[in-house]
Amino acid sequence: MRRVSILGATGSIGQNTIDLIARAPGDYRVEALTGARNLTQLAHDARRLNARLAVTSEPDGYAALKDLLAGTGIAVAAGPQAVAEAAARPADWVMSAIVGAAGLVPGMAVLKRGGTLALANKETLVTAGPLVMATARETGATILPVDSEHSAIFQALTGEDVTGVERVIITASGGAFRDWPLGRLAGATLAEASQHPNWAMGQRITIDSASMFNKGLELIETKEFFGISPDRIEVIIHPESLIHAMVGFADGALMAHVGPPDMRHAIGYALHWPERRPLPVARLDLAQIGQLTFRAPEDARYPALALARRVMDEGGLSGAAFNAAKERALDGFIAGQIGFLDMARVVEQVLDKMSSSDGLQNATLTLDNILQTDRLARIRATEAIEQKS
Ligand code: NDP
Ligand code: MG
Repeated sequence: MRRVSILGATGSIGQNTIDLIARAPGDYRVEALTGARNLTQLAHDARRLNARLAVTSEPDGYAALKDLLAGTGIAVAAGPQAVAEAAARPADWVMSAIVGAAGLVPGMAVLKRGGTLALANKETLVTAGPLVMATARETGATILPVDSEHSAIFQALTGEDVTGVERVIITASGGAFRDWPLGRLAGATLAEASQHPNWAMGQRITIDSASMFNKGLELIETKEFFGISPDRIEVIIHPESLIHAMVGFADGALMAHVGPPDMRHAIGYALHWPERRPLPVARLDLAQIGQLTFRAPEDARYPALALARRVMDEGGLSGAAFNAAKERALDGFIAGQIGFLDMARVVEQVLDKMSSSDGLQNATLTLDNILQTDRLARIRATEAIEQKS
């Protein structure tokens, strides 16, 4: 029996992971499940999967979670530190599916003990890529990409030499506003930005898809995980979302990964890696699909892409600043403090300010200075938001 833990079990990726694990109960022993506010779901799954430990990252949630699990023998803990401790417990496979920079410390706890980390939390690589990869190398930890594009690249590279890669193309649906007139974007509402044309995901990543901040994070994630230079990484809009990524080799061949927009493929690939096992995902009927289309992303519609390219060039702590400013700007948009297009403006202002005064580029990465940069970038983003609202 494999021992598995799921960080962010109550979210969209977490629930898809549980779906796969619950289909083969005899194969897995669930060590720990973590969540934040959705205690009912957390307790429900902890009972159903007979987890050893259930943890909420919200310190105030302890008593309620304890109540919900009374009489089950399932251990309960609360607070961010308890989430990191849950990640550090021995398990054969850990899913990292917390949303945002909060996923970094727990993910690092898995890597520090040399564990296997299925990484959906892209913020881990965006904020701390070089540190994360170096830690995995030192401890012998394994990182398996779960973001669909990166799982696709990883699969296309199996048996290949990464030094023979000429280019990597990651696809983007173009998000909720891909066909809107540019003039309407400034007035886009929260409800409109929260509709994804193809994928069912958490609200934050769905809005990040409309702005393409998500694709910006994924550009950085590609650079950091695969060590591919930024000028070899391309983004293309592919409205059908059936090709997840393509890898181009020195001989001109392009290997495309094609499949339905269902995260259980990438999660299941990471769960069973290096084997392939049957997965409950739809099989594509290509004759019925008929055609796959592509177009270049427009700079004016997706300023987040240029910001991400700037971060790839600057390196150092700029990824941590970029991500934190983006998270704070997204909070501001969700709270109705700023408009849709202001998110990119806020992030740009924060990068401008911090790269001139705080030496983002030349810093050595440590967990401490990444977390400090994260905090400072949120303060700077709050100032920028207050100027606008
Ligand atoms: P959701 O918002 O659906 O779920 C987030 C999870 O994190 C929930 O379990 C939530 O708990 C928990 N959580 C929220 N805040 C904190 C915190 N401060 N500390 C600890 N736990 C917290 O997100 P998704 O599942 O959509 O995304 C998870 C990650 O995977 C993100 O990094 C995203 O970019 C990435 N990803 C997601 C994809 C998708 O299809 N959804 C595709 C590719 C990547 P609770 O709900 O109990 O409050
Ligand atoms: Mg993705």
